[in-house]
Amino acid sequence: MNMMSTMEAPSLDGFAQPDIAAPVTTAMSPGTYLRKRREAADRTLEDVARTLRPKWGVAQINWMVSHLAELENDEAYVTGVVVRNIAATFPMDANVYNALVAIRCGVELDEPQLCRECACSAHDACIDALGHGCSWVEGDPTLCTNCREPEPVEGANAIEGRARAA
Ligand SMILES: [Zn+2]
Ligand SMILES: [Zn+2]
Repeated sequence: MNMMSTMEAPSLDGFAQPDIAAPVTTAMSPGTYLRKRREAADRTLEDVARTLRPKWGVAQINWMVSHLAELENDEAYVTGVVVRNIAATFPMDANVYNALVAIRCGVELDEPQLCRECACSAHDACIDALGHGCSWVEGDPTLCTNCREPEPVEGANAIEGRARAA
């Protein structure tokens, strides 16, 4: 009986140590999230570092750039006010980042709904030139309307475009 109850002990599979190299989750990694949001805003790591620390010299900015790169490579995570400070330098959602870190560490949370291309979400939608926010592509809840391939245009321009791309 004792033996039996040992065998029936809850499996530890769901509570594995966080393994950043081979995560069990398919959720976007926190670092990928940061990179996609930064690139969507067309900002470099150096832009972000300089916004965070306007008075810093070149050596300190370079240090900050390498730290930000570590975050984007999922070699380190940040929490709390640091996340909010980064979120103030380009449109991203600190709550989404925090949730992705938690998921990566094995916490059972609902995956935030993100655009697979630009990582926008309901709380930081892409805003077009007319000031309209993006929405989810019909039938594809992992892609926003801002990242959708443009509808093929019939006519000379479309043909010219294809020829140039070829
Ligand atoms: Zn998008
Ligand atoms: Zn979007």
